[in-house]
Amino acid sequence: MNFKSTRGTGATVSAAQAIKQGLADDGGLYVPESLPVLTDADFTELCLQSYAERAAKILGMFLTDYTEEELLRDCEEAYSEESFPGGAAPLVSLRSGLEMLELWHGPTAAFKDMALQIMPRLLSRALLKTGEDRTALILVATSGDTGKAALEGYRDVPRVKIVVFYPMDGVSRVQKLQMATQQGSNVGVHAIRGNFDDAQNHVKAIFGDAEMSRKLDEKGYFLSSANSINWGRLAPQIVYYISAYCDLVNSGKIKMGDAINVCVPTGNFGNIFAAYLAKRMGLPVARLICASNSNNVLTDFLETGTYDRNRPFHLTMSPSMDILISSNLERLLYFTAGSKRTAEYMDALRQNGCYTVDADVLLAIREHFVGYYASEEETAETLHRVFERDGYLADPHTAVAITAAEKYTAETGDRTPVVVASTASPFKFANHVFRAVTATEPSGDLEALDELSAKTGTAIPYPLAGLASREIRFRTVCDCREMPDAVLRFAD
Ligand SMILES: *Cc1c(COP(=O)(O)O)cnc(C)c1O
Repeated sequence: MNFKSTRGTGATVSAAQAIKQGLADDGGLYVPESLPVLTDADFTELCLQSYAERAAKILGMFLTDYTEEELLRDCEEAYSEESFPGGAAPLVSLRSGLEMLELWHGPTAAFKDMALQIMPRLLSRALLKTGEDRTALILVATSGDTGKAALEGYRDVPRVKIVVFYPMDGVSRVQKLQMATQQGSNVGVHAIRGNFDDAQNHVKAIFGDAEMSRKLDEKGYFLSSANSINWGRLAPQIVYYISAYCDLVNSGKIKMGDAINVCVPTGNFGNIFAAYLAKRMGLPVARLICASNSNNVLTDFLETGTYDRNRPFHLTMSPSMDILISSNLERLLYFTAGSKRTAEYMDALRQNGCYTVDADVLLAIREHFVGYYASEEETAETLHRVFERDGYLADPHTAVAITAAEKYTAETGDRTPVVVASTASPFKFANHVFRAVTATEPSGDLEALDELSAKTGTAIPYPLAGLASREIRFRTVCDCREMPDAVLRFAD
């Protein structure tokens, strides 16, 4: 299986090369040349397997230049009981009927771990498979969750180093502490004076700087990225939708072949696009419900066919969805409209911040997707209601999805079972959750963890327990213009 660019003009490459490179030469995103299909026999086999075995099988359908043994070993290490106590992607049924697919039992308590625990292993192997003798230097600009999950994933991985930049005042207390206390001999963390866009723009400038590449090359390094446009992050996310379906069949909740709906709290369109791929591979998914917060650019797009990022940007309590350019939507456009039209739409987006897809494209997309959004008020109400009604503590991102799923069901009367992606531990956003659930203020952002735990009788997950007493390893704050020097120093 080879990979090509969504924009049609880049070279065709192997999976290992696509993972090493991240972005295609022509600025497009890598997509597989064809989509593998799961047979009835495959489903029967998958239902009998562990999560790691399911992951190895599904990844193997895309990463044909990796052996079965390699993938199985990597998946068993990535999704071990030690990293994901109690299982990698458990389902929890709510009394009200929703099936919560909990993707946050990994080492950083957010769903990014599902991909970032396995992707570093795939990259290490990609270096060998492509004959690369330099060290990969991963650069990340983060608004919180991705930075920590990438640090934890790449920690102490041979022939890889990772530097993360985050906006000094743009991440939560918990997120800041999670990054500042990061362990590992190959990691660097810098707070920068500026906002997330400043960090992101300077990281992009470093990637585009030929002189910088030359200097790093002399030192034996090349730059690589860990963000969700990399195929190595997308492929592992297909697995848990298929795994959840098997678990529903095994528990007798559905029969093999029955349809389900899937609802995903969406930012960059990576997670929900993985669900779409699972559907295209043969998973019986009827509707893909795309849930947004008040940055509802996708809700409007799915309604009208016009994608318009020229709108106010809202800071919400679900910050990982505060995004106005959903990069992975480009992959859906490719599969729906082909590479020529995708390149045109992306050109218009770059020039005008806006594009409108042709009527046939919108129709084809709406065959699979429907979009709903939740305001801040609705999200808080859902956090409260779900705790009172179902005894379930959700995080704000997940609450956005629950709101969307309930709006969909109320509007359509569709009784198909809904699997909702639960993307972060409520304790990662304990201050907001405490406020919504108890209608009182916590004593402080860090104190909110213990207070939420005491008030609801729910244990703090292991990655967040005792966070305040861990040793701080990274205190440096730099100006954006010092970022290239920080990178070069780190490559010594
Ligand atoms: C990243 C993230 C999302 C959004 O996922 P996308 O793949 O970017 O759509 C949702 N919830 C949480 C908690 C996240 O960290």
